Amino acid sequence: MSKNIVIIGAGVAGLTTALLLSKKPGYKIHVAAKHMPGDYDIEYASPWAGANYMPVSVGGSQAAKWDAETWAPLADLARNHPEAGVHFQECEIHSRAKDAGSATATWFADLLSSNPWFAKVVPNFRTLGKDSLGPGIDSATAFTSVCINTAIYLPWLVSQCLANGVTFKRAIFEHIRDASAPGTHPRGNVDLIVNCTGLMASKLGGVEDTSVVPARGQIVLVRNEAGKMLDVSGTDDGDDEACYVMTRAAGGGTILGGSYQKGSWESQPDPNLALRIMKRAVAMCPALTNGRGVEHLDVIRHGVGLRPVREGGTRIEKEVIAGINVVHNYGAGGAGYQSSYGCALETVNLIEESLGPRSRL
Ligand code: FAD
Repeated sequence: MSKNIVIIGAGVAGLTTALLLSKKPGYKIHVAAKHMPGDYDIEYASPWAGANYMPVSVGGSQAAKWDAETWAPLADLARNHPEAGVHFQECEIHSRAKDAGSATATWFADLLSSNPWFAKVVPNFRTLGKDSLGPGIDSATAFTSVCINTAIYLPWLVSQCLANGVTFKRAIFEHIRDASAPGTHPRGNVDLIVNCTGLMASKLGGVEDTSVVPARGQIVLVRNEAGKMLDVSGTDDGDDEACYVMTRAAGGGTILGGSYQKGSWESQPDPNLALRIMKRAVAMCPALTNGRGVEHLDVIRHGVGLRPVREGGTRIEKEVIAGINVVHNYGAGGAGYQSSYGCALETVNLIEESLGPRSRL
């Protein structure tokens, strides 16, 4: 007998979990979510992400394992599946000695290391010579990474799931048990619920995990091209502001970031912050405007997304709530894409542990 699974959430966590589970025999998977790819909403983080692979996880941690497991699938997409909207990009990580101890430099600690754990995972990892560094930069590393055009990648995940028989429907659940109510799953009774609700796990009845909080990220999407991805350890404009640049695959434009404003739910772009983001980006990456001023940036849109940051890291756990088997996969913070396959793999393992492995029917 196949098992009926409801996945709540159609962000990168829910969709990657649905895709990996749909490759296994014996599951009828239904994704039910308030927001779907194509939507832009403050409660839906995934479309706003850059998104790239720049691990900030600590070596030896569970999070580093999930990041490490995700590199090969993303590299495979970049190499062999152009229709997924993922491409390789060279990236440079710049460090300023004066940022030591700041919020961003602490968040980036492993990323800024000259010998991080992922040096053996990504191709071409190297330390850049002093003579190649721009003004104010004290050290830098470089490697080959990927950048994901989320406007292509999220719908691509949906298409892959649909091809494997996954069904999709809009739904809003007040309480997690509502996802097992009659009529939710098109095939009948629900055997297990997967909770991929991101930041909104803090509000979902039966979960209400108050250790998940927003880290507000404001971005500017421009038509200009950067040539490579750049990230720096801090800014002179405040501890919760950041500076990074990445050009998305397949005409997706270039993302200029950003901020990391913990606890802020503000959905509207702050025009002053937007100007600071653009000025910093042009100063760090003159190639954006061929050395000209910020007025030569060609803005597509301003945006704000909320990273679902969880104290203790992403929650991937089994639980029985109101008598129903649940597996959680939420709270990936600023790493939802770069840890997506590792997290989904572990979630699928827990689903199999809860229900027993299925045989091919
Ligand atoms: P979400 O995308 O928020 O999806 C949650 C889903 O659950 C939605 O479908 C929602 O509608 C649904 N849902 C929630 N509650 C309910 C309910 N009660 N009933 C029904 N449905 C519900 N990550 C990287 O790896 N690399 C990057 O470069 C990167 N850059 C980022 C830049 C910015 C500005 C931001 C904001 C984030 C960035 N991230 C990056 C982080 C990444 O975007 C997130 O970690 C990831 O999108 C989280 O995905 P998710 O599926 O858990 O949550």
